[in-house]
Amino acid sequence: MTDETPRGDSGPELAAVVAAGTVDVPDFPKPGIVFKDLMPLFADGAAFRRVIDGILAHHRPDGRSDGFDVVAGVEARGFVVAAAVAYAAGCGVVPVRKAGKLPRKALSASYELEYGEATLEVHEDAFIAGQRVLVVDDVLATGGTAGAALELVERAGGTVAGFTVLMELAFLKGRERLSPRTVHALLTV
Ligand code: AMP
Repeated sequence: MTDETPRGDSGPELAAVVAAGTVDVPDFPKPGIVFKDLMPLFADGAAFRRVIDGILAHHRPDGRSDGFDVVAGVEARGFVVAAAVAYAAGCGVVPVRKAGKLPRKALSASYELEYGEATLEVHEDAFIAGQRVLVVDDVLATGGTAGAALELVERAGGTVAGFTVLMELAFLKGRERLSPRTVHALLTV
């Protein structure tokens, strides 16, 4: 391995698949932010399938359906990942939404973003008590979004079974912020 070899929690090959499907967009949505655009990965059927299979292989290493009962995805790109993982696993999906989008009574949690502030919400009856929830998103930056999503899952009665992202921006130390929770990142940059 060289310093150039992509690294991630599922090994260099999957890390390379995510890296190859990502475009860096400088100064979006604000000056100084390098936006990690994963749309090319989502649009590539073979690559997308590999990353979804990689997530399942990590959370259900023996192929049995006992690692989680439902998948929660964070708006909006997390929905893409969550729905695919849920379909492949044969379970349901729960959207964790931005403020004001859910039609029924919801729990909310506010947090700071790498570029701003936001609130996430989940229906208060989204989970059956004790249901094991795999939480997914596209990018882990400062960890504020993930922290709020994980908190909401628990406040709504779920048990966090795992947290997976396609990409982690290590310099923003989201993983440390979420500790002692475990983060599984297919690509760490
Ligand atoms: P954070 O709360 O700082 O960990 O930010 C994570 C959330 O914001 C995720 O839902 C990402 O989709 C989005 N995000 C933050 N920073 C970036 C970035 N540099 N590129 C792409 N998405 C980002």
